[in-house]
Amino acid sequence: MTSEKIPRYRVDGIISLEVIKELGLFPPEERLKKGPVVLIECPEKIPCNICVSACPFGAISMDSIIDIPKVDWDKCTGCATCVALCPGLAIFVVDLSKEDKAYITVPHEFIPAPDVGEEVILLNKEGKRVGKGKVVRVFERNKTYVVTVEVPRELVFEVRAIWVERRK
Ligand code: SF4
Ligand code: SF4
Repeated sequence: MTSEKIPRYRVDGIISLEVIKELGLFPPEERLKKGPVVLIECPEKIPCNICVSACPFGAISMDSIIDIPKVDWDKCTGCATCVALCPGLAIFVVDLSKEDKAYITVPHEFIPAPDVGEEVILLNKEGKRVGKGKVVRVFERNKTYVVTVEVPRELVFEVRAIWVERRK
């Protein structure tokens, strides 16, 4: 097998939007306009279905435990419960319903957790700094912090983590 045939995410763990769309895991444009909605970046058929039982609204399903998750976009409320419970840190929530702002919700398994209103560093899928955002919501579940950050609209599909930088 040549290296060209190996998907990039199997080499460096970085999954492209094109792959997410091919898997049917990219929210429809009309749903994106309505409010926060889940974005699952889980391309491998691994034996895991925690997200299915994690969703209190029954929005995620699988035909078998070794499958790609499927999302019922109308059932998803964007609550982010699944973001906290996914062991692969592969679930996010995006909100593009406001004209001038965008929000991304990410899992955060580091300390310190940010405070609401705090400015944090935005990191992309490669862990590179791409800007700054303002924290608007934080909750903890299953020892994972779930952080919603206001970000520039053009970065909402790029930002996948935050870094809390505090001076001593
Ligand atoms: S964001 Fe909430 S409603 Fe949507 S799939 Fe996740 S747990 Fe279900
Ligand atoms: S819980 Fe996370 S890792 Fe497991 S199947 Fe769902 S999205 Fe994939």
